Amino acid sequence: MQFEPVIGLEVHAQLKTKTKIFCGCSTEFGKPPNANTCPVCTGMPGVLPVLNRQVVTFAIKAALATHCRINQESRFDRKNYFYPDLPKGYQISQFALPIAEHGYLEIETQTSGQKKIGITRIHMEEDAGKLIHDPARARSMVDLNRTGVPLIEIVSEPDIRTAQEAGAYLRKLHSILKYIDVCDGNMEQGNFRCDANISLRPAGQKEFGTRAELKNLNSFKNVEKAISYEIERQTYVLEEGGQVIQETRLWDPAKNKTTPMRSKEEAHDYRYFPDPDLVPLIVDDKWIQDVEKDIPELPDEKCSRFVKEYKLVGYDAGVLTSSIELADFFEETAGPLKDKKLAANWIITTFLGMLNSKGITIGNSPVKAPAFSKLIQMIEDKKINANAAKTVFEEMVESLKDPESIVKEKGLEQVSDSSELETLVQNVIAENPDEAAAYKNGKTRLFSFFMGQIMKKNRGKADPKIVTQLLKTKLK
Ligand code: ADP
Ligand code: MG
Ligand code: ZN
Repeated sequence: MQFEPVIGLEVHAQLKTKTKIFCGCSTEFGKPPNANTCPVCTGMPGVLPVLNRQVVTFAIKAALATHCRINQESRFDRKNYFYPDLPKGYQISQFALPIAEHGYLEIETQTSGQKKIGITRIHMEEDAGKLIHDPARARSMVDLNRTGVPLIEIVSEPDIRTAQEAGAYLRKLHSILKYIDVCDGNMEQGNFRCDANISLRPAGQKEFGTRAELKNLNSFKNVEKAISYEIERQTYVLEEGGQVIQETRLWDPAKNKTTPMRSKEEAHDYRYFPDPDLVPLIVDDKWIQDVEKDIPELPDEKCSRFVKEYKLVGYDAGVLTSSIELADFFEETAGPLKDKKLAANWIITTFLGMLNSKGITIGNSPVKAPAFSKLIQMIEDKKINANAAKTVFEEMVESLKDPESIVKEKGLEQVSDSSELETLVQNVIAENPDEAAAYKNGKTRLFSFFMGQIMKKNRGKADPKIVTQLLKTKLK
């Protein structure tokens, strides 16, 4: 039987506020355990939460950027459960009346072009603390620095059908939250966390099947791998005539599989009820309008503009606008240049290739946009050829020197002087009479041999276009 996967994602994004959601404690990462705590976030009796206005502003911003409807009256609820990293015994969240609902975002699918993925709701809540287990001394410790750090949870509709779509949705959402500057998106630090819900149903059936929920997905790659694994696992279970159990499963990146963690809780297990310490939250039109004014150009709009303004192909524009840092890097690089496409190509291949191989981000890149722009400018002005530019770039990465001085030091200026190149071409042909004869007899593959010899002789500085011309005439 053919089964169709049904996937819905829940994302917890940490908001970039200076202080926590219900107290004045700092949200700074990496402080000594329990340095960022007070009676409110450690759940002492008799304290009262006070809502951080900036959290609401950020939540509204995220809601507007994902086409959600804002609920001008929303409420905070207590989600009750016991865990040592949750000192109050409940988490303040939003249940019945979240801040926003009914949004969507658009993704690029591999098979069917653009697709809208619905967003069910966005709600605000506080984060829990962290347990640190120390097996050597057989004890566990709790760090409450993260307790009360503001989160928004963004819940998608079960509109996703493949692991690739799930990856595209998450990357888009991540990118949007960074564009609007409400979340710094560091997945390793847990600032952007995802749970994936997956079920299968016989192709053509309307009702959803029983789902499993996957946790511990701390990179886009892991989300895709875990979903693919889970689709296979459930297919196997169903084909064998078994039933998928509603449960929470953990992704094990080392073993590349998911394993059961606990049976899935239901909403009623939490005994949600309105938090009596917090009044209903009213968001007026002015507040929404003010936030709206603050929303920058978003990835989709920027992508269309790059296509129009810089005449890039859609794919390249998509890559370049996938993160705000990269889009800014491109515009800063391309700004002074005539050939915007040249800048786009060099960024996508050479610059991103370098970041990838070093495993670093644009923020930590040893080469900044102004220097990169100068490098491309030299290619545009035909001062250096592509070969030399690669050498210069490598040197820029290593030594942080500016491209002009590297070109001078290494004598990499492109040789475009025809008479100089002509002598060079003639010499190389004279030194390789056998190859020249073979070429003339139709072994045209030898063209690259000559090209290589010439480039070797003048250390890659010859203008390849002129050399090609010269070789073609001389080898006739
Ligand atoms: P919770 O996981 O907290 O119980 P929900 O019931 O609201 O919350 O569902 C959370 C996510 O699971 C949503 O993204 C939703 O789209 C998705 N989902 C719900 N039912 C299914 C299903 N049968 N198969 C796949 N995903 C589902
Ligand atoms: Mg869930
Ligand atoms: Zn506090």
